[in-house]
Amino acid sequence: MTAPQTLYYNTHCYPPQTHFSKHVSLGDSDDMTTNYTSSANNYIGVGISVSNMRAALVNTDGQVISRREAAIDRDAIAPQIIRAIAELRDEAAQNIAAIGVGVPGLVDPNTERVFVSSDLPSIVRGDLHAELIGATGINHILLENDANAGAYGEFQVGAGRGSKDMFYVTIGAGIGGAIILDGKIWHGASGFAGEFGHITINTDGIECVCGNTGCLETVASAPNIVRRTHERLHRDGTSSLSRLALNREFTAADIAREAKNGDDFALMMIERTGRYIGAAIANVINLLNIERIVLGGGVMEAGDLILDAIIREAGRRSFQPCFEATQIVISQLSTDGVPIGAAMLARDAVHNVAG
Ligand SMILES: [Zn+2]
Repeated sequence: MTAPQTLYYNTHCYPPQTHFSKHVSLGDSDDMTTNYTSSANNYIGVGISVSNMRAALVNTDGQVISRREAAIDRDAIAPQIIRAIAELRDEAAQNIAAIGVGVPGLVDPNTERVFVSSDLPSIVRGDLHAELIGATGINHILLENDANAGAYGEFQVGAGRGSKDMFYVTIGAGIGGAIILDGKIWHGASGFAGEFGHITINTDGIECVCGNTGCLETVASAPNIVRRTHERLHRDGTSSLSRLALNREFTAADIAREAKNGDDFALMMIERTGRYIGAAIANVINLLNIERIVLGGGVMEAGDLILDAIIREAGRRSFQPCFEATQIVISQLSTDGVPIGAAMLARDAVHNVAG
Protein backbone atom coordinates (compact mmCIF):
# COMPACT_ATOMS: atom_id res chain seq x y z
CA MET A 1 0.00 0.00 0.00
CA THR A 2 1.49 3.31 -1.02
CA ALA A 3 1.62 6.41 1.09
CA PRO A 4 -1.61 8.39 0.97
CA GLN A 5 -1.81 11.18 -1.52
CA THR A 6 -4.04 14.19 -1.55
CA LEU A 7 -6.04 14.55 -4.73
CA TYR A 8 -8.07 17.49 -5.90
CA TYR A 9 -11.04 17.70 -8.10
CA ASN A 10 -13.05 20.70 -9.05
CA THR A 11 -16.76 20.98 -8.75
CA HIS A 12 -18.77 23.29 -10.93
CA CYS A 13 -20.47 25.76 -8.68
CA TYR A 14 -22.40 29.01 -8.76
CA PRO A 15 -21.41 31.52 -10.05
CA PRO A 16 -20.62 29.58 -13.21
CA GLN A 17 -17.12 30.96 -13.69
CA THR A 18 -16.07 30.08 -10.14
CA HIS A 19 -14.67 26.74 -9.10
CA PHE A 20 -13.52 25.49 -5.77
CA SER A 21 -11.60 22.44 -4.88
CA LYS A 22 -12.93 19.89 -2.49
CA HIS A 23 -10.22 17.91 -0.89
CA VAL A 24 -10.02 14.25 -0.13
CA SER A 25 -7.14 12.05 0.78
CA LEU A 26 -6.93 8.71 -0.88
CA GLY A 27 -4.62 5.83 -1.05
CA ASP A 28 -3.54 4.44 -4.38
CA SER A 29 -6.33 4.12 -6.90
CA ASP A 30 -6.40 0.31 -6.94
CA ASP A 31 -7.04 0.25 -3.24
CA MET A 32 -9.74 2.90 -3.60
CA THR A 33 -11.54 0.97 -6.33
CA THR A 34 -11.39 -2.21 -4.31
CA ASN A 35 -13.00 -0.54 -1.35
CA TYR A 36 -15.63 1.22 -3.39
CA THR A 37 -16.78 -1.86 -5.25
CA SER A 38 -16.78 -4.04 -2.15
CA SER A 39 -19.85 -4.50 0.00
CA ALA A 40 -18.56 -1.93 2.48
CA ASN A 41 -21.23 0.66 3.06
CA ASN A 42 -20.79 1.83 6.60
CA TYR A 43 -18.93 4.96 7.63
CA ILE A 44 -17.64 6.49 10.83
CA GLY A 45 -18.11 10.15 11.59
CA VAL A 46 -16.40 11.94 14.45
CA GLY A 47 -17.03 15.39 15.85
CA ILE A 48 -14.56 16.95 18.23
CA SER A 49 -15.23 20.15 20.09
CA VAL A 50 -13.65 22.09 22.90
CA SER A 51 -15.56 19.92 25.39
CA ASN A 52 -16.61 16.64 23.73
CA MET A 53 -15.70 13.87 21.33
CA ARG A 54 -18.69 12.32 19.59
CA ALA A 55 -18.30 9.42 17.19
CA ALA A 56 -20.97 7.55 15.26
CA LEU A 57 -21.19 4.47 13.07
CA VAL A 58 -23.35 5.64 10.17
CA ASN A 59 -24.86 3.74 7.27
CA THR A 60 -24.82 4.98 3.69
CA ASP A 61 -28.16 6.77 4.21
CA GLY A 62 -26.81 8.75 7.13
CA GLN A 63 -28.63 6.80 9.81
CA VAL A 64 -26.74 6.36 13.06
CA ILE A 65 -26.20 2.72 14.02
CA SER A 66 -24.14 3.27 17.14
CA ARG A 67 -22.53 6.15 19.07
CA ARG A 68 -19.61 6.88 21.36
CA GLU A 69 -19.32 10.07 23.39
CA ALA A 70 -16.80 11.28 25.94
CA ALA A 71 -15.41 14.45 27.45
CA ILE A 72 -12.50 15.54 25.27
CA ASP A 73 -9.04 14.51 26.38
CA ARG A 74 -7.15 17.60 25.21
CA ASP A 75 -3.75 16.00 25.64
CA ALA A 76 -4.58 12.77 23.80
CA ILE A 77 -7.18 13.60 21.16
CA ALA A 78 -5.89 11.22 18.47
CA PRO A 79 -5.72 8.16 20.78
CA GLN A 80 -9.23 8.98 22.01
CA ILE A 81 -10.60 9.10 18.46
CA ILE A 82 -8.72 5.93 17.53
CA ARG A 83 -10.26 4.08 20.50
CA ALA A 84 -13.76 5.19 19.55
CA ILE A 85 -13.21 4.15 15.93
CA ALA A 86 -11.94 0.73 17.03
CA GLU A 87 -15.01 0.17 19.21
CA LEU A 88 -17.41 1.19 16.45
CA ARG A 89 -15.60 -0.97 13.89
CA ASP A 90 -16.12 -3.95 16.15
CA GLU A 91 -19.85 -3.30 15.97
CA ALA A 92 -19.99 -2.86 12.19
CA ALA A 93 -21.21 -5.88 10.26
CA GLN A 94 -19.31 -4.70 7.19
CA ASN A 95 -16.01 -2.97 6.62
CA ILE A 96 -15.74 0.75 7.16
CA ALA A 97 -15.51 2.43 3.75
CA ALA A 98 -14.35 5.85 4.97
CA ILE A 99 -14.02 8.03 8.04
CA GLY A 100 -14.78 11.72 8.42
CA VAL A 101 -13.70 13.95 11.30
CA GLY A 102 -15.15 17.38 12.06
CA VAL A 103 -12.65 19.60 13.84
CA PRO A 104 -13.00 23.05 15.46
CA GLY A 105 -10.49 24.62 13.10
CA LEU A 106 -9.40 24.94 9.51
CA VAL A 107 -7.92 22.10 7.47
CA ASP A 108 -5.25 22.73 4.87
CA PRO A 109 -6.37 20.85 1.74
CA ASN A 110 -2.77 20.40 0.62
CA THR A 111 -1.54 18.63 3.72
CA GLU A 112 -4.77 17.54 5.49
CA ARG A 113 -3.30 19.22 8.55
CA VAL A 114 -5.37 21.35 10.89
CA PHE A 115 -3.63 24.72 10.69
CA VAL A 116 -5.92 26.98 12.70
CA SER A 117 -7.81 26.05 15.86
CA SER A 118 -8.24 28.70 18.51
CA ASP A 119 -10.52 26.36 20.48
CA LEU A 120 -8.26 23.31 20.51
CA PRO A 121 -4.66 24.35 19.74
CA SER A 122 -3.26 20.90 20.48
CA ILE A 123 -4.73 19.51 17.22
CA VAL A 124 -2.65 22.03 15.28
CA ARG A 125 0.59 20.63 16.67
CA GLY A 126 0.05 17.00 15.65
CA ASP A 127 -0.84 15.34 12.35
CA LEU A 128 -4.23 13.88 13.15
CA HIS A 129 -4.85 12.70 9.60
CA ALA A 130 -1.63 10.69 9.41
CA GLU A 131 -2.13 9.29 12.91
CA LEU A 132 -5.63 8.06 12.05
CA ILE A 133 -4.47 6.41 8.83
CA GLY A 134 -1.57 4.78 10.64
CA ALA A 135 -3.72 3.45 13.47
CA THR A 136 -6.75 2.32 11.46
CA GLY A 137 -5.20 1.20 8.17
CA ILE A 138 -8.02 3.07 6.41
CA ASN A 139 -6.79 5.52 3.79
CA HIS A 140 -10.11 7.21 3.14
CA ILE A 141 -10.03 9.70 5.96
CA LEU A 142 -11.31 13.21 5.53
CA LEU A 143 -10.96 16.14 7.92
CA GLU A 144 -13.34 19.08 7.71
CA ASN A 145 -14.21 22.16 9.74
CA ASP A 146 -16.93 21.26 12.26
CA ALA A 147 -19.44 23.91 11.17
CA ASN A 148 -19.09 22.70 7.58
CA ALA A 149 -19.55 19.10 8.69
CA GLY A 150 -22.61 20.01 10.80
CA ALA A 151 -24.07 21.85 7.83
CA TYR A 152 -23.55 18.87 5.54
CA GLY A 153 -25.26 16.57 8.05
CA GLU A 154 -28.34 18.79 8.12
CA PHE A 155 -28.20 19.15 4.34
CA GLN A 156 -28.10 15.39 3.77
CA VAL A 157 -30.43 13.99 6.40
CA GLY A 158 -31.71 16.83 8.62
CA ALA A 159 -33.48 20.18 8.28
CA GLY A 160 -31.72 21.01 5.01
CA ARG A 161 -32.88 17.89 3.19
CA GLY A 162 -34.44 18.58 -0.19
CA SER A 163 -32.77 21.95 -0.65
CA LYS A 164 -30.04 22.69 -3.17
CA ASP A 165 -28.53 25.77 -1.55
CA MET A 166 -28.40 26.14 2.21
CA PHE A 167 -26.93 28.44 4.82
CA TYR A 168 -26.21 26.95 8.22
CA VAL A 169 -25.73 28.74 11.50
CA THR A 170 -24.76 27.31 14.86
CA ILE A 171 -25.24 29.54 17.89
CA GLY A 172 -23.72 28.39 21.16
CA ALA A 173 -20.61 29.43 23.05
CA GLY A 174 -19.57 31.00 19.74
CA ILE A 175 -21.37 31.52 16.44
CA GLY A 176 -20.37 29.57 13.35
CA GLY A 177 -21.72 29.36 9.86
CA ALA A 178 -21.40 27.37 6.66
CA ILE A 179 -22.52 27.82 3.07
CA ILE A 180 -23.66 24.97 0.83
CA LEU A 181 -24.15 25.92 -2.81
CA ASP A 182 -25.40 23.46 -5.38
CA GLY A 183 -24.88 20.65 -2.88
CA LYS A 184 -21.24 21.48 -2.13
CA ILE A 185 -19.59 23.22 0.78
CA TRP A 186 -18.31 26.63 -0.22
CA HIS A 187 -14.94 27.03 1.50
CA GLY A 188 -13.95 30.44 0.14
CA ALA A 189 -10.51 31.65 -0.91
CA SER A 190 -8.78 30.73 2.35
CA GLY A 191 -11.26 28.36 3.98
CA PHE A 192 -13.06 30.86 6.20
CA ALA A 193 -16.33 31.25 4.26
CA GLY A 194 -19.40 31.48 6.44
CA GLU A 195 -18.00 33.40 9.42
CA PHE A 196 -21.51 34.49 10.31
CA GLY A 197 -20.64 35.34 13.92
CA HIS A 198 -18.38 38.14 12.77
CA ILE A 199 -20.91 40.02 10.70
CA THR A 200 -21.01 43.56 12.10
CA ILE A 201 -24.34 44.19 13.80
CA ASN A 202 -23.47 47.42 15.62
CA THR A 203 -20.72 49.74 14.41
CA ASP A 204 -20.47 51.19 17.95
CA GLY A 205 -20.53 47.82 19.67
CA ILE A 206 -18.07 46.18 22.03
CA GLU A 207 -14.82 44.56 20.99
CA CYS A 208 -14.97 41.02 19.64
CA VAL A 209 -12.39 38.24 19.98
CA CYS A 210 -11.70 38.67 16.24
CA GLY A 211 -10.51 42.26 16.73
CA ASN A 212 -13.55 43.91 15.15
CA THR A 213 -16.20 45.70 17.22
CA GLY A 214 -19.92 45.01 17.28
CA CYS A 215 -19.89 41.53 15.73
CA LEU A 216 -23.06 39.43 16.03
CA GLU A 217 -21.15 37.13 18.37
CA THR A 218 -20.66 39.99 20.87
CA VAL A 219 -24.41 40.10 21.50
CA ALA A 220 -25.91 36.76 20.48
CA SER A 221 -23.55 33.98 21.60
CA ALA A 222 -24.63 32.18 24.78
CA PRO A 223 -22.10 33.94 27.06
CA ASN A 224 -23.05 37.31 25.60
CA ILE A 225 -26.78 36.68 26.07
CA VAL A 226 -25.96 36.05 29.74
CA ARG A 227 -23.81 39.21 29.88
CA ARG A 228 -26.57 41.37 28.37
CA THR A 229 -29.13 39.84 30.69
CA HIS A 230 -26.99 40.63 33.74
CA GLU A 231 -26.58 44.23 32.56
CA ARG A 232 -30.35 44.77 32.47
CA LEU A 233 -31.40 42.56 35.34
CA HIS A 234 -31.27 45.30 37.97
CA ARG A 235 -34.11 47.05 36.12
CA ASP A 236 -36.47 44.17 36.76
CA GLY A 237 -36.32 42.73 40.27
CA THR A 238 -39.49 40.69 39.65
CA SER A 239 -37.88 38.37 37.09
CA SER A 240 -37.36 34.77 38.13
CA LEU A 241 -33.79 35.27 36.88
CA SER A 242 -33.20 37.81 39.66
CA ARG A 243 -34.05 35.16 42.23
CA LEU A 244 -31.92 32.59 40.39
CA ALA A 245 -28.97 35.00 40.32
CA LEU A 246 -29.00 35.19 44.11
CA ASN A 247 -28.03 31.53 44.33
CA ARG A 248 -25.87 30.83 41.30
CA GLU A 249 -24.69 32.02 37.93
CA PHE A 250 -27.42 31.48 35.36
CA THR A 251 -26.88 30.33 31.78
CA ALA A 252 -28.44 31.05 28.40
CA ALA A 253 -30.36 27.78 28.82
CA ASP A 254 -31.80 29.13 32.09
CA ILE A 255 -32.93 32.30 30.30
CA ALA A 256 -34.60 30.24 27.55
CA ARG A 257 -36.31 28.01 30.12
CA GLU A 258 -37.64 30.96 32.12
CA ALA A 259 -38.86 32.58 28.89
CA LYS A 260 -40.80 29.41 28.07
CA ASN A 261 -42.23 29.52 31.60
CA GLY A 262 -43.63 32.97 30.86
CA ASP A 263 -41.09 35.23 32.57
CA ASP A 264 -41.52 38.57 30.78
CA PHE A 265 -37.95 39.75 31.28
CA ALA A 266 -36.43 36.47 30.04
CA LEU A 267 -38.81 36.58 27.08
CA MET A 268 -37.71 40.09 26.23
CA MET A 269 -34.05 39.04 26.27
CA ILE A 270 -34.73 36.07 23.97
CA GLU A 271 -36.73 38.27 21.59
CA ARG A 272 -34.03 40.95 21.51
CA THR A 273 -31.43 38.28 20.78
CA GLY A 274 -33.64 36.99 17.99
CA ARG A 275 -33.78 40.47 16.53
CA TYR A 276 -30.00 40.70 16.39
CA ILE A 277 -29.74 37.29 14.72
CA GLY A 278 -32.61 38.14 12.36
CA ALA A 279 -30.89 41.36 11.26
CA ALA A 280 -27.74 39.40 10.42
CA ILE A 281 -29.81 36.75 8.65
CA ALA A 282 -31.36 39.50 6.50
CA ASN A 283 -27.87 40.31 5.21
CA VAL A 284 -27.36 36.68 4.23
CA ILE A 285 -30.75 36.55 2.51
CA ASN A 286 -30.01 39.69 0.51
CA LEU A 287 -26.52 38.52 -0.40
CA LEU A 288 -27.24 34.93 -1.42
CA ASN A 289 -30.99 34.74 -2.14
CA ILE A 290 -30.58 31.40 -0.42
CA GLU A 291 -33.25 28.69 -0.50
CA ARG A 292 -33.00 27.51 3.11
CA ILE A 293 -31.41 28.69 6.34
CA VAL A 294 -30.91 26.11 9.09
CA LEU A 295 -30.28 27.38 12.63
CA GLY A 296 -28.71 25.12 15.24
CA GLY A 297 -26.70 25.19 18.45
CA GLY A 298 -27.68 25.46 22.10
CA VAL A 299 -29.20 28.94 21.83
CA MET A 300 -31.79 27.65 19.33
CA GLU A 301 -33.12 25.31 21.99
CA ALA A 302 -35.29 28.28 22.94
CA GLY A 303 -37.30 27.00 19.95
CA ASP A 304 -40.11 29.04 18.43
CA LEU A 305 -39.63 31.85 20.95
CA ILE A 306 -36.37 32.83 19.30
CA LEU A 307 -37.16 31.52 15.81
CA ASP A 308 -40.27 33.69 15.52
CA ALA A 309 -38.27 36.78 16.52
CA ILE A 310 -35.53 35.90 14.01
CA ILE A 311 -37.99 35.39 11.15
CA ARG A 312 -39.88 38.58 12.00
CA GLU A 313 -36.74 40.70 11.99
CA ALA A 314 -35.28 39.01 8.91
CA GLY A 315 -38.55 39.67 7.09
CA ARG A 316 -38.58 43.30 8.17
CA ARG A 317 -35.01 43.96 7.03
CA SER A 318 -34.51 41.88 3.89
CA PHE A 319 -35.46 42.45 0.30
CA GLN A 320 -38.91 40.91 0.07
CA PRO A 321 -38.52 38.81 -3.11
CA CYS A 322 -35.43 37.24 -1.52
CA PHE A 323 -37.09 36.75 1.87
CA GLU A 324 -40.16 35.09 0.39
CA ALA A 325 -37.97 32.48 -1.31
CA THR A 326 -36.17 31.56 1.93
CA GLN A 327 -37.23 28.96 4.47
CA ILE A 328 -35.79 29.59 7.94
CA VAL A 329 -35.90 26.48 10.13
CA ILE A 330 -34.34 24.95 13.25
CA SER A 331 -31.80 22.13 12.83
CA GLN A 332 -32.93 18.54 13.45
CA LEU A 333 -29.83 16.52 14.22
CA SER A 334 -28.68 18.13 17.48
CA THR A 335 -25.32 16.70 18.56
CA ASP A 336 -25.40 14.02 15.83
CA GLY A 337 -25.06 16.70 13.15
CA VAL A 338 -21.26 16.91 12.99
CA PRO A 339 -20.56 13.13 13.14
CA ILE A 340 -23.23 12.40 10.53
CA GLY A 341 -22.06 15.24 8.29
CA ALA A 342 -18.41 14.18 8.57
CA ALA A 343 -19.37 10.60 7.67
CA MET A 344 -21.45 11.78 4.69
CA LEU A 345 -18.61 13.98 3.44
CA ALA A 346 -16.26 11.00 3.63
CA ARG A 347 -18.86 8.85 1.82
CA ASP A 348 -19.31 11.37 -0.98
CA ALA A 349 -15.57 11.95 -1.38
CA VAL A 350 -15.08 8.23 -2.03
CA HIS A 351 -18.09 8.01 -4.35
CA ASN A 352 -17.29 11.15 -6.34
CA VAL A 353 -13.72 10.12 -7.05
CA ALA A 354 -14.66 6.52 -7.78
CA GLY A 355 -17.55 7.65 -10.00
ZN1 LIG B 1 -15.87 39.22 15.55
